[in-house]
Amino acid sequence: MKIQVETLSEGTHEFNFVVLPNEIFVEDDEFTTDELAEDLEKFVLPILVSARVEKNPRQTHLRVKISTSHNAICDRCTETFENPIVGEYEMVYGYEQRNTMEMEEMDFSILDNDHPIIEMHDDVRQTLLLSIPMKLLCKDECRGLCSHCGKNLNTGSCTCSETAIDERWNTLLSLNQ
Ligand SMILES: [Zn+2]
Ligand SMILES: [Zn+2]
Repeated sequence: MKIQVETLSEGTHEFNFVVLPNEIFVEDDEFTTDELAEDLEKFVLPILVSARVEKNPRQTHLRVKISTSHNAICDRCTETFENPIVGEYEMVYGYEQRNTMEMEEMDFSILDNDHPIIEMHDDVRQTLLLSIPMKLLCKDECRGLCSHCGKNLNTGSCTCSETAIDERWNTLLSLNQ
C-alpha cells in the first residue's frame, strides 16, 4: 500500500486497495510473534482500504477509510461472531517542518524529498486495531449466559430462576428454625 506522490498530478486522486490480514500483520520491531498470532486470529477477511489524496505544491493530504470484519467473542454469551468494523484516519504529508499555525489539528508527516512515497501499512494496521470496539455484543438484545447453569439464554431459557427462588426460600426457612 504505497502511493508515489512524485508521479501524481496536482488535485484529487482515489486509490483502492484490498489487502489480506497477513500482509498487514507482519513481524517487525513493534510486534512480537505472540501479538501477531493473536491479531491474525482476529482478522481473517480481506481488508478494504480506500484512500483519497489531495496534492498541492506544498503538501499532500491523505484521507483513508478502512473496512473489514473481525472474529469477535461476545462479552455476554461468549459465542464467536463476525463483527464488521470501519476505521478512518487522516494525515498531511509535507516536505519541511510543519507550520504550527496552519494545521494544529492534523497529524503531520515529513516526506523524503528524493523519494516522496506514502507508505500506509503502519497507519492502516494501527487504525484497524483501534477500531475494534471495547464492548463486543453478538447482537444488542443478546441474553447472555445463565449465571447459574451457564446455558446460552439466546437458545432458550433454563429452569434456574425457579430453582434459585426455591433455594432462597429454603434458606429463610432454615433460619427460622
Ligand atoms: Zn451474545
Ligand atoms: Zn440456568
